[in-house]
Amino acid sequence: MNVATAPEPAKPVRIHADRSAGTLAIDWADGHQSTYPAIGLRWLCPCAFCRGEAGMPGWLDTMPTLSTEQTRLVDVQLVGSYAIAPSWADGHHTGYYPFVLLRDRCPCAACMARRSTEAKPNPREVRS
Ligand SMILES: [Zn+2]
Ligand SMILES: [Zn+2]
Repeated sequence: MNVATAPEPAKPVRIHADRSAGTLAIDWADGHQSTYPAIGLRWLCPCAFCRGEAGMPGWLDTMPTLSTEQTRLVDVQLVGSYAIAPSWADGHHTGYYPFVLLRDRCPCAACMARRSTEAKPNPREVRS
C-alpha cells in the first residue's frame, strides 16, 4: 500500500478573507485554489441552527431570504487544524466549516465539472 505520499488535499496553506470583495480564498496544499463568495459560504453553514438537528429542519432549510448583514463576512477564525468558523455581520458565528467540506464544495469550474459528473452515476449502466 502506498500511504501518505501525496499531500493531504483538504489541507489549506493559506486562508484569506477579503471583506471588501466579500470572498474567502483558500490555497490548498496540493496547489488548488478556491474562492468562495461569502453568500455561498453562508448557505453552507453546517451549524445545528442553520442545518437542523435530530431530524428537525434548520433555518436554512426554510429557504430564508438572506439579508446583507447575514451574508457579510466580518471575520474568520481557525478551529484547530480542521475547520474555520466565519463570523457574519448579523452576529452568527457558530458554524464550523471543516476543510473537507470546503474543498468538496469548491466553486471553481474544474470542481463544478467534476461534481456534476460524479453526481450523476448511472446505476443501470450495462457493463460488458
Ligand atoms: Zn449557522
Ligand atoms: Zn476547485
